[in-house]
Amino acid sequence: MHYDVIVCGGGPAGFGAAIGAVRTGKKVLLLDKNSGPGGVAVYCGCPVFSGIRDFNAATRGGIAGEFAQAMEKDAFIVNNITMNSSEFAIGLAMTGMLKNSGVDMLFYATLHAVDVQGSRIKEITVSACGKNYTFSADNFVDATGDAVLSRLSGVEILPYRVEETMTKTVLFRVSGVKEFDKPKLMELFPKLDFPFSYQDRFMGTIVGDGQEILLNLTAVSGDALDAFELTRMDIELREQIPVILQWMKEKLPGFENCRLSAVAPMIGVRSSCNIKGKEVITCDDLDNNTPVTEPVARGSRSYGEHYIHSFNSPWRKSNGGSRAIPYGALLPEKLENLCVGGRCISIETRAVTAVRLMPVCMATGQAAGVAAALGIPEYSKVKTELQRQKCNI
Ligand SMILES: Cc1cc2nc3c(=O)[nH]c(=O)nc-3n(C[C@H](O)[C@H](O)[C@H](O)COP(=O)(O)OP(=O)(O)OC[C@H]3O[C@@H](n4cnc5c(N)ncnc54)[C@H](O)[C@@H]3O)c2cc1C
Repeated sequence: MHYDVIVCGGGPAGFGAAIGAVRTGKKVLLLDKNSGPGGVAVYCGCPVFSGIRDFNAATRGGIAGEFAQAMEKDAFIVNNITMNSSEFAIGLAMTGMLKNSGVDMLFYATLHAVDVQGSRIKEITVSACGKNYTFSADNFVDATGDAVLSRLSGVEILPYRVEETMTKTVLFRVSGVKEFDKPKLMELFPKLDFPFSYQDRFMGTIVGDGQEILLNLTAVSGDALDAFELTRMDIELREQIPVILQWMKEKLPGFENCRLSAVAPMIGVRSSCNIKGKEVITCDDLDNNTPVTEPVARGSRSYGEHYIHSFNSPWRKSNGGSRAIPYGALLPEKLENLCVGGRCISIETRAVTAVRLMPVCMATGQAAGVAAALGIPEYSKVKTELQRQKCNI
């Protein structure tokens, strides 16, 4: 089957890419190995879109802004800085927007082979239900988070050291907390002898209907592109949970009678690898706020969180404000018909925090989808279409 654009990966970036592409009038397929869209937000138990309000139409707009408004309209919980809702609500809202936009969706489909001819991807093959399905397209978007489509196509990956990638986590939730005074817990936490030395910062967020606390307290380091490593990390992370639970009951004020209410079905990978694009975003760029001539989205200027020995990495910079993300960071060096969106765009490993939050991934995804739909043209055409789609770039 042939499409104008195929988007691989249905997380925040793939969601933005598929809708951005279909709005240009093209025939678009979105595929994912999971049972629906949402990526980390839905399948790793993280329904927390940090900074989504900032993406409302009045500020940065685009599909992330529309998504925030859709969630508000349906009365899911929103506050000023973070939208916390349930995975169900997010999955439902995303599926609804994809369906209403006219995107074809294929789930339970794992991308595993790519046919590259010359400088173009010709076909991809996914496996699902014990069968292989082959699809061709004019242009493709890699929104797999781990640059799966890019790597299978021979795109170069930026060199990285595993200990410089961000920690992996299995998120869990508790209910039955007597009080939740986050500033007080943050102050107290480092003094309380937490059983795992890596975690020196209390990370908890009220989610769902407000009766549950999402805890971001497990962490390991390892290579998320190696299946044996992924398996080891998943096991270790799950083994940390009962230890932390017991510790919270004994030591954390208000948590004496807490109960485990949910554990994420899949390990949460914050970062793994990044493609080498026509432009590479560096720590220096973020430090110096180097001007960007071809902006397609905006990320943060801060970076260096979630390091394996402590929350702050030795290279952390908490620069305020945001910096534009250049078009060249979405474009692999050699392939003509591939664009990349989301957490695996072209950025130095140490700096990934600056581009990985979900609204930012939706925005780079939308830019990648638009570029793919237009045939990956020169910047001015992508800019005009992004502006038509109400992105404030
Ligand atoms: C523990 C944790 C906590 C976080 N907390 C926050 C937070 O509080 N706020 C916030 O804004 N962000 C947070 N993030 C970051 C955010 O969730 C991710 O950076 C973001 O989801 C990345 O979006 P993405 O679309 O690039 O990738 P992903 O969300 O990883 O989506 C990639 C998609 O590609 C699919 N895929 C991968 N390989 C294949 C294949 N071979 N075939 C088919 N499909 C494939 C996957 O199934 C997945 O659905 C957190 C992340 C983690 C792990």
